[in-house]
Amino acid sequence: MWRYYHAAMDTDLYRVKPGAKQIDLGEWATNDNGGLDRAEAEAEFATLTARLADLQERMYAEGKRSVLVVLQAMDGAGKDSTIKSVFGPLNPQGLSLTSFKAPCGHELAHDFLWRVHAHAPARGYLGLFNRSHYEDVLVVRVRGLVPESRWKKRYAHIVNFEELLVDEGTTIVKCYLHVSRDYQRERLQKRLDDPAKHWKFESNDLKERALWKDYREAFEVAVAKTSTKTAPWYIVPSEKRWFRNWLVAKIMVDTMEAMDIKLPEPDFDPKSIVIT
Ligand code: ATP
Ligand code: MG
Repeated sequence: MWRYYHAAMDTDLYRVKPGAKQIDLGEWATNDNGGLDRAEAEAEFATLTARLADLQERMYAEGKRSVLVVLQAMDGAGKDSTIKSVFGPLNPQGLSLTSFKAPCGHELAHDFLWRVHAHAPARGYLGLFNRSHYEDVLVVRVRGLVPESRWKKRYAHIVNFEELLVDEGTTIVKCYLHVSRDYQRERLQKRLDDPAKHWKFESNDLKERALWKDYREAFEVAVAKTSTKTAPWYIVPSEKRWFRNWLVAKIMVDTMEAMDIKLPEPDFDPKSIVIT
């Protein structure tokens, strides 16, 4: 039925194994193509997204479990285009997308997970987080938005929170879209060069870029501390967009196939029913 040219390719290569003290992102490629041929991968990508759409529909019909995809990246690494390319072909009815911005007044009046938990996907849904609770140990740590004594404890809170979601029926996949600093320059420059992309450019992005090293270190710590068996991080080489799309789609399909989702059995005999 479903046929993948590269079904044997092990997405595990890109998974951060639990228990690492700290990872070095310098050891992870940003422009890998996984040994794939572009034309083949693009053709297979269409098959993968069709399969993903089928799995999503089954999960919706089953109505018992959910999937949460967390996307994190440096500015300009391609979160938006990953969402559009990989998840665009899915049925919007079974999707819930949340883009997390800096928390506003009433959100700041609660603990950092309060607003996040409210957006966790309901049973049957595939939930996408464009940025997430990880900002609370990334930008918050880099910019010192809360005291260290508070953000330090958040890694453990995050692991426990995700374990709670998993125990209650959510499958979690976390992807860090990995690009180099040079690549970010190119992408930000494109936002300046193309009038249709000016709306995407923010001078704040340059201030964040100046803190590249601090962000990178914060990512390295966060990913190492929170990549667990049931809520793994994948480091997705994202400079070849066709490979990035292929890999995220492949991770999604492999993950959802392992869920063994079954369409619900009807509680009636369809043959016995006559529609007049
Ligand atoms: P784009 O790639 O289109 O710029 P974006 O995800 O960067 O998309 P923006 O609206 O530009 O979207 O940025 C959202 C901002 O919100 C980021 O700077 C991010 O760090 C910030 N943010 C998100 N969550 C938190 C948080 N918990 N605390 C502080 N800042 C946060
Ligand atoms: Mg931005």
